[in-house]
Amino acid sequence: MKKIVFIFLITLSLTVFSADYIFFFLGDGMGINHLKLANEYSIKKYGKTLNYNSLENLSILNTESLDGVTDSAAAITSFMSFEKTNNNKINIDKDGNKLNPVSYHFKDTNYKIAVITSNSIVDASPAGIYAKSNDRNNYISIANQLLESQFDLFIGGGRAFFTEEEILKKGYMYKRKIDIQAVEPKNEIILTSYSNNPFIFDQDEKDYYEKAIKYSLKKFEGEKFFIFIEGGKIDHASHAHDTLSMIEEIIAFDKSLKPAIDFYNKNPDNTIILFTADHETGGLSLGDGFININNLSSQKISYDKLISMINNSDDFDDFQKKSNVYFLNEENYNEALSDNNVSYFDDFVQNYFNHYNDLAGIKWSTFGHTINNVALFSNGIKFDKSVHLTDIFWDIIKK
Ligand SMILES: [Zn+2]
Repeated sequence: MKKIVFIFLITLSLTVFSADYIFFFLGDGMGINHLKLANEYSIKKYGKTLNYNSLENLSILNTESLDGVTDSAAAITSFMSFEKTNNNKINIDKDGNKLNPVSYHFKDTNYKIAVITSNSIVDASPAGIYAKSNDRNNYISIANQLLESQFDLFIGGGRAFFTEEEILKKGYMYKRKIDIQAVEPKNEIILTSYSNNPFIFDQDEKDYYEKAIKYSLKKFEGEKFFIFIEGGKIDHASHAHDTLSMIEEIIAFDKSLKPAIDFYNKNPDNTIILFTADHETGGLSLGDGFININNLSSQKISYDKLISMINNSDDFDDFQKKSNVYFLNEENYNEALSDNNVSYFDDFVQNYFNHYNDLAGIKWSTFGHTINNVALFSNGIKFDKSVHLTDIFWDIIKK
């Protein structure tokens, strides 16, 4: 129904947006407990409350897709096209019909558009801003649709899916780094890594998200804009129960809210900030009769690094020397390596993270996604107390 009304409104050109500037912060898998934990950790370790606390409005967001527990593809479809669909589908409805993502309406009404992620730029969440695909894994088609979209700015991983020649042929500039001193107005694709970016936890520079927002704001100065930014690795860390990588990812992602809040304070009448999630990942619960989050900081290795150390060690002794981790068991190590595909399902990996989670009193209940509600923080627009993903942009364009 929303779809039909939307087409009707566009046909009659009746949609007049009250907001000239829209920020959409999407923490992939970022549940309410994820936020609470990251905030408490930030206060304890860095003496700083996270920025999301200063946003004005808060609603509870329901995330279910037509399959119940959603994936990122169905969730971003709900946001952009106001329809529930089946998992795996990007801007395609349950009957296979193509939907009309609101981002293209922004484009048609002269908004500048930025799509930013820490994952590959063709991954489901960013793809939902510019592409339609019956299968989220159809990366070749999604990459082509990115180039065809002529959206103004893309920043993320995913060099594997593009050649420089193709990018230039479609009229885009191509870069591999965000350099705020070198902003030009022309359409641009910045691919910062081959597939997904490394965890913030593994990087010396922690300001990827903040730099990307500042870059977009400088590029779009004086123009209306829609900026989408995804904290994609929050979900990856949560699937693996890698609590500290998840926390550091949220802290860095939240840092990028500051330039948006500053912008809002200068333009409060026509700016919207959304800070939310597409679903919860991991079934995170805080406290096991006690809680001691200081104990998390003794974790020194992220999930990505742990996997790479396991794969690149000569044997168990070599692994111990390289990792400086001596509490794990050789039998589990050999088991993990036996199927040539070490992952978070392996006991060896889980025992590593459980060790720190147990010390802290933190429990994860699943390796998958849940239908736990997520939080929707906003400035410049107030939503009902309890909403679904499909309501958000629908409410924005109605106002
Ligand atoms: Zn996930």
